[in-house]
Amino acid sequence: MSDEHLDREPVDPTVAVQNKLAELSLTLDEAIPYRLSSMFPKLEGWGVRKEIRNKVKLIRNIEPCLSDLLRAGEEILYVAKGVQYSLLEAQFIGGLWANMINQTVFVVTNLRLIMINSNSKGVPKHTFWMIYYSQIDKAKAGFSGVLNLKLRDGKKLKFTGFTKLDRKTMPPLFEQAVETYQKHGFDPETSQSREFLCNVCYQAVPRHLYACDDCGTTFWKPSQVAIRSLIFPAWGDFLMKHYPLAVMEIFGYLLTWFFIIAIVSDAASVADVAVDVALILFFAHGVDAVATLMVAKKGLTPRVSGSLKPQPVTESVE
Ligand SMILES: [Zn+2]
Repeated sequence: MSDEHLDREPVDPTVAVQNKLAELSLTLDEAIPYRLSSMFPKLEGWGVRKEIRNKVKLIRNIEPCLSDLLRAGEEILYVAKGVQYSLLEAQFIGGLWANMINQTVFVVTNLRLIMINSNSKGVPKHTFWMIYYSQIDKAKAGFSGVLNLKLRDGKKLKFTGFTKLDRKTMPPLFEQAVETYQKHGFDPETSQSREFLCNVCYQAVPRHLYACDDCGTTFWKPSQVAIRSLIFPAWGDFLMKHYPLAVMEIFGYLLTWFFIIAIVSDAASVADVAVDVALILFFAHGVDAVATLMVAKKGLTPRVSGSLKPQPVTESVE
């Protein structure tokens, strides 16, 4: 060890993060309770500046929701972005599109894991979840870069797309939190391991209910979203705000109709191809409805987009 090292006072980890952020000219909302030392576990090394910059950018994107989301005494321990993965969904919708609609920001707090459905930049959309740590049976980062969560009610969630540092940091944080829970005998009641949250007031909306008790926001039932996709493919995805996917579906649906017109015009009579046309339409509408149902069941879809909070009265200008 060098002399220089011996002379130096050990720097407080929080101060070390504050210094690093200042050095990179990065700021975070001071009103939000961040535990900086746990949020930025790595301050030196190759590529770390870029990693910190990206992390701060991600946190800034969710800051508008955070102050409303957090409860008294709740503190943020970590923030990361991944993608929820399901093989079935990838097969139905296509891996790339499934990847696009399943972007998820993880907010690890001392109380729970909050998950926010977002766009690829981490800007929140309108679906929120939370998992109390007593509901996590196992959190494990696999070899292939997958983060696996096994929940108490049997649900298994798979996430990909986290950075190496995120995958390494989060499971121990969950384990620590579970231990703290056990020590205090804390086991809050829930209606399902991964609880759905209202997108306006962020209170839990119990399983199979589609209205928020606290603020009155109402949500579509998954079957209602699916029926719309059955009537017109892409309708359900518009409701769920999966706009690029919805536009692609309309395009695909138009191609289907071109194909149908080609078949009909080639046939001697419409009756000859009626069965084929019926089958094609059955698949175009049916597959989309099933895929929509699968996606809609995973979280809440508000009936009215945007906030239902009282809006300031606007006066008409004469
Ligand atoms: Zn609400």
